[in-house]
Amino acid sequence: MSNCVFCDIVAGQVPASVVYENDVALAFMDIYPVHPGHTLVIPRTHVVDLASCPTELVGELFQVSARLAPAIAAATNAAGFNVWTANGKAAGQEVLHLHLHILPRYDDDTFGLRFPKGYPEEAPREALEELAVKIRQVVRR
Ligand SMILES: [Zn+2]
Repeated sequence: MSNCVFCDIVAGQVPASVVYENDVALAFMDIYPVHPGHTLVIPRTHVVDLASCPTELVGELFQVSARLAPAIAAATNAAGFNVWTANGKAAGQEVLHLHLHILPRYDDDTFGLRFPKGYPEEAPREALEELAVKIRQVVRR
């Protein structure tokens, strides 16, 4: 056993209900589903989060998610789905092994991200441009 439950799932040392696997990715049912069908897509290799994931692997994980999400929605009669990932504890990441959530959604299912107090308020163009420049200077190539 490692100190990472997702690595233990990849190694077959912790049980999981697998819905898809290939050479680089594994997808399995979340043991604490928000809704039935809630599925996690992970890389087979230990990668902490999206920020530290090689971009080629990011692409593979999203391709797997794009294939699985409609199938999951169909199997659960969902009206839609979310695909998202949490990066860092402040964002809600609990297992420090990159995982994409595929979450079936239903009308009025009461789940959702909450907007901050005062939202929406249009940002001044100068502030948007200033941040865009700052981000362009540090974006990964
Ligand atoms: Zn891991």
